[in-house]
Amino acid sequence: MADTIFTKIINREIPADIVYEDDRCLAFRDINPQAPVHLLIIPLKPIATLNDMTEADRELVGHLHLVAAKLAQDMGFAEDGYRVVMNCNRDGGQTVFHIHLHLLAGRIMGWPPFTDHAKAPV
Ligand code: 5GP
Repeated sequence: MADTIFTKIINREIPADIVYEDDRCLAFRDINPQAPVHLLIIPLKPIATLNDMTEADRELVGHLHLVAAKLAQDMGFAEDGYRVVMNCNRDGGQTVFHIHLHLLAGRIMGWPPFTDHAKAPV
């Protein structure tokens, strides 16, 4: 898979506001936040999309979610609530092809997500 901007962040080739790291993942603030708290949680292992995950990644994906919940607890918004999202490919709105959880908090999230876009022809 081609390197993305997130590989450069993992390798410290470009700066990011990193809030958490361990031997499997990294969490940092989104450069274009959509909520008062907007973190990205990414595996160190580059996987392009949700479609590319395999059985071997089962534990890793669970770990990303546990890190999201830990950050919510540590940063004090677990009880108020938050949203965790992984976008996939064009219709999902994915722009960086290295899987990541968006962790959004600090405001009330709307539901359903924005629906004004017409679906482009497949
Ligand atoms: P996606 O659209 O793929 O679900 O999410 C990609 C996210 O990465 C976007 O929310 C975008 O703002 C964020 N992003 C893109 N480039 C950078 C960067 O260089 N640094 C940081 N911190 N976030 C980035």
